[in-house]
Amino acid sequence: MAIKDKPNPPRFRPFNNIFLILGIGFLAANFILPSILGPQIPGVPYSLFIHQVQEGDVARVQVGQNQIQFQLKPETEIGGEDLGQVYSTTPIFDLGLPTLLEEKGVEFAAAPPPKNGWIGNVLGWVIPPLIFVGIWQFFIRRGAGGGGPQGMLSIGKSKAKVYVEGEAAKTTFADVAGVEEAKTELVEIVDFLKTPGRYTQIGARIPKGVLLVGPPGTGKTLLAKAVAGEAGVPFFSISGSEFVEMFVGVGSSRVRDLFEQAKKQAPCIVFIDELDAIGKSRSSNGFYGGNDEREQTLNQLLSEMDGFAAEDATVIVLAATNRPEILDPALLRPGRFDRQVLVDRPALSGREAILKIHAQKVKLGDDVDLHAIATRTPGFAGADLANLVNEAALLAARSGRPAVAQTDFSEAIERVVAGLEKKSRVLNDKEKKIVAYHEVGHALVGSLMPGSGRVEKISIVSRGMAALGYTLQLPTEDRFLMDEAELRGQIATLLGGRSAEEIVFNSITTGASNDLQRATDLAEQMVTTFGMSKVLGPLAYQQGARPMFLDQGMPNARRSMSEETAQAIDREVKDIVETAHQQALEAIRHNRDLMETITTQLLETEALEGKTLHHLLDQVQAIPVT
Ligand code: ADP
Ligand code: MG
Ligand code: ZN
Repeated sequence: MAIKDKPNPPRFRPFNNIFLILGIGFLAANFILPSILGPQIPGVPYSLFIHQVQEGDVARVQVGQNQIQFQLKPETEIGGEDLGQVYSTTPIFDLGLPTLLEEKGVEFAAAPPPKNGWIGNVLGWVIPPLIFVGIWQFFIRRGAGGGGPQGMLSIGKSKAKVYVEGEAAKTTFADVAGVEEAKTELVEIVDFLKTPGRYTQIGARIPKGVLLVGPPGTGKTLLAKAVAGEAGVPFFSISGSEFVEMFVGVGSSRVRDLFEQAKKQAPCIVFIDELDAIGKSRSSNGFYGGNDEREQTLNQLLSEMDGFAAEDATVIVLAATNRPEILDPALLRPGRFDRQVLVDRPALSGREAILKIHAQKVKLGDDVDLHAIATRTPGFAGADLANLVNEAALLAARSGRPAVAQTDFSEAIERVVAGLEKKSRVLNDKEKKIVAYHEVGHALVGSLMPGSGRVEKISIVSRGMAALGYTLQLPTEDRFLMDEAELRGQIATLLGGRSAEEIVFNSITTGASNDLQRATDLAEQMVTTFGMSKVLGPLAYQQGARPMFLDQGMPNARRSMSEETAQAIDREVKDIVETAHQQALEAIRHNRDLMETITTQLLETEALEGKTLHHLLDQVQAIPVT
């Protein structure tokens, strides 16, 4: 596709607009203006006109395309009007009319162009374009004047923000923790930027593009800034979604502009956030040309990256995405983003290091144990941890403490995990009872099942939007692998809430829908992704690679398969969930008395945690093997 020769900046596409203007002119000349300027002739129904003709009252007729005008003979009148009055009627398709008129001796002719026609036509063709041009001028003036860089005239200009070394607070690798492998790989990039000569001398090609891949909030943007900070080079940053605008051609001209600026300041870094917004696979578009604009932008980006040769300035493009699987393969070819750096969620020690970085900004009390906090926050990304420290500081300030205490962190963890406490949402007594049994059900089953972590807290104080009550289970360590029994245990735990409701109330509420969703998803993954079904064997029934991050991957499409296989999968999934359901029911029935004890206590205190809870749950009895 020829995109290089697009006018820059592209706007106002003359041909489209001329047609638009002609169209408006046509409309005005034929419909709008005649109705304003045209002679006001009273209209009558066609049937009346024919009747008048047959009666011999009509003197002459002018047949136009949309209108028939006729003049009555002097001695007749319609509705008390004066003699010889002119009337009009709307013609219907009537081939017999000329014959009839001839018979009755009416003088008739085709209508000449309407009297006011030429004025109407001229005005019709001149005024709308004038209005159009006026509006256009208005926008342009606004763009050039008060509108500033956001105005219409500047739509082709790159919006890249530039951070030059020494300008803002310098970001370095010391500000990033928990992503050591990524850092190691990026140290090399820093070296390329600092001393490109060393590499080009022996003919090595400096990589042009590095793709940072990882879930949101893990520090991709931060790392890119740190690379620029370490190398002491300018940092151009733009987000992929900013490229994609409503005007065709703007995105590509923005890309061109960005690289023009960057080359002038080389060596430097161009950072493209949300690369997937422009780099979506072109084949996944559905229709051909489904998104022309994005495609053009992508093409421009590709040709810019191919464009700057080794002897040119050193511009290294860093890009970030959390959906690498949807990127166009052309982006990942050698010479483009041929290096990929995984920026994953931090493990225990990484979390502690990140907490240390962010805790420097607040006053910590003596009792704060960052290691303990890191232990309680598996799955938190860097941004969540930064947020956690801030929440804790806010809580401490609110309660007037001079420094942040460990209790502030505990409370902040709960807030970040389950959303802010919603004091305003009050459950009635019946609902409270149901929620209490539901949560105790989770806790009971959870404490029996392998792989679902220790139950740390049960609460029926509603939090956030979704959860009415919640059961907090904390794994004692980071888990990377799970076996089949543990997954089945998790499913049973998820169904524990609903099972408790079934047993106690003999009915089911809407409260368990999220549990069911998660349980079913897990069971389906066991069958289609992890190959854990004996019937279906160790096959992957999902199309393509497993989503990179389990918790945010959208469910993959299934591979094409026979109808029987599809049915077999459905049966297996149902079987796994139903077995887990029976297991949960049994576990609860077996501990029915204990459930009453715990629920009664929970209803009194609204929350159970720590030693009290552990002591109660230690009494849970395993289901006897029969
Ligand atoms: P991403 O670009 O991956 O979505 P960001 O780099 O924008 O994440 O992270 C947002 C904020 O979270 C950062 O500004 C920083 O304060 C904090 N943060 C994220 N990851 C880390 C990390 N690995 N080390 C230290 N702070 C981090
Ligand atoms: Mg980011
Ligand atoms: Zn539940």
